[in-house]
Amino acid sequence: MIDRLLQQVEARRDDLVEFTRELVRIPTVNPPGDNYRDCAELLGRRLAAHGFEVRLLRALGTPGDSDRYPRYNLIARRTGTRSGPRIHFNGHIDVVEPGLGWTVDPFAATVADGRVYGRGTCDMKGGIAAAVIAVEALLACCPDLPGSIEISGTADEESGGYGGVAWLCEQGLLTRDTADHVIIPEPLNKDRVCLGHRGVWWAEIETFGRIAHGSMPFLGDSAIRHMGAVLDAFEGELFPLLATKRTGMPVVPEGARQSTLNINSVHGGQSEGHDGLPSPLVADSCRLIIDRRFLIEEPIAEVKSEVTRLLERLAATRAGFRFALRDLFEVLPTLTDRNAPVVRGVAQAIQQVLGREPDYVVSPGTYDQKHVDRIGRLHNCIAYGPGILDLAHRPDEYVDIQDLEDAAKVMAVATWHLLTGSAA
Ligand SMILES: [Zn+2]
Repeated sequence: MIDRLLQQVEARRDDLVEFTRELVRIPTVNPPGDNYRDCAELLGRRLAAHGFEVRLLRALGTPGDSDRYPRYNLIARRTGTRSGPRIHFNGHIDVVEPGLGWTVDPFAATVADGRVYGRGTCDMKGGIAAAVIAVEALLACCPDLPGSIEISGTADEESGGYGGVAWLCEQGLLTRDTADHVIIPEPLNKDRVCLGHRGVWWAEIETFGRIAHGSMPFLGDSAIRHMGAVLDAFEGELFPLLATKRTGMPVVPEGARQSTLNINSVHGGQSEGHDGLPSPLVADSCRLIIDRRFLIEEPIAEVKSEVTRLLERLAATRAGFRFALRDLFEVLPTLTDRNAPVVRGVAQAIQQVLGREPDYVVSPGTYDQKHVDRIGRLHNCIAYGPGILDLAHRPDEYVDIQDLEDAAKVMAVATWHLLTGSAA
């Protein structure tokens, strides 16, 4: 059976490349969320032709949704000849803007050197195409499979997934009541199973001052100097503290196996963008946006209190120091059990297709698994897909055609194991 299945995937290699290219040629850049409908419909037509019942759904009123940029999602289901396990493949159809530095047209989906080049080839239209081909190959081999197969193409992963997977989960369309196994074909390399991700806390810190003439700063109080004291405390205390916190999660790359903090932006004093010279003013406000990534071992309350304690101490010891702290966004860490059924099924398929044990990894940043886990309360979920993670969001992004084919084979074999219960 497995040999026949692998042959069916091999026979579809050109088709796999062409379908990847078709998806990439639709520039679904987010923000703002362009062309979602066209891309979702392309996926829908393809699946409808293979016996899937297809639904095109707009996530009305979610962040960014408008008549100009509607948040369309596609969900397709094929119910088997008898009841059995339910598997769901979810891929995001949005891509980040191409940015500068490309040597090829980012939306031409050029094929060269055994690769497909273009924005979204790796993250993650190649993964969506590989899942579709895997399922088509499997259905060609076993048209009378038990259970059900769902494939969804969703909006807005790059901007938090609220008009995409989060919305599907809230609508009850992707939850533990609708699916048993979920595979998200994000580009995590074809021999790795991604079990989850670290947590995130974004916050804005604002320091306040008193405006005055810049020639007599002693009459005012500089919010920027107060923020300097915050940054000093970060350098002297917070960064060294974070460097001591190590996780047992197998995060890749290795540098992300500790707590990290990025200072996303700092804005103080007069706004910019005017012609001519600025006027002399003491800054009455300075804002800093922090992006704190934390570990499964760290309670979020502790993560936040490390920062509040530091700010409160400055307020108690530094003359004139006043601050505000605003939460912007938070996601708790997610980690699927290594012995969860979907992990075992995919690991066995990797062994059978690639002849080696998979690596088990955790992503440094979050992806849509968070919504499946929290809103859908479905914990049997992983990311597995073709493409090299480091190429995501970069110029000259590409996916290797052999990786596409190999990952499609793994997904086909894993689906067969999971639906028929033939996993070891
Ligand atoms: Zn992605």
